[in-house]
Amino acid sequence: MEKFRLKKDFVDERSELTKCPVCDTYVHQQESFVCPRCNKSPLCRKHRVPGRRECSSCVVDLKRKELNVLRGQEESIRHFLKFLQFIFLFSAVIYIALNLGIAEFVEILQHSLLPTYIMYFSIIPIAGYILFFIILYNQRGKVTDMELQIKKLEVRR
Ligand SMILES: [Zn+2]
Ligand SMILES: [Zn+2]
Repeated sequence: MEKFRLKKDFVDERSELTKCPVCDTYVHQQESFVCPRCNKSPLCRKHRVPGRRECSSCVVDLKRKELNVLRGQEESIRHFLKFLQFIFLFSAVIYIALNLGIAEFVEILQHSLLPTYIMYFSIIPIAGYILFFIILYNQRGKVTDMELQIKKLEVRR
């Protein structure tokens, strides 16, 4: 009886142990998990990311993709800021031109509504610039945060 039990335990132990495909260490079936994204199994707990179902390699891949999107958005904001700078400079030049009386010689400016609204034309890009600068600052924070998360996860791989 005693001998039989010992043998059974030994068999169970053998069948429950499997190799982790990532780090090649033996892992208990109960302590392992399957990644729903890359279908790798049985993965040992080292590759588990708290709060995620995917393995750490997959989480890094997903975060890298998110990071690329965030960087793309950051680039767009930078381009838009440059555009606002251009609008501001453009309206500033016209404003100066009007104040110096050069406009009197420029027929298009003489009869247009531009002189009346020129102040608004320069205030809007300034306000927009401040607003989008804050958005850019916020975006930069998100990018740095994501880079830090990826760095931390890469250690687990
Ligand atoms: Zn492993
Ligand atoms: Zn995975």
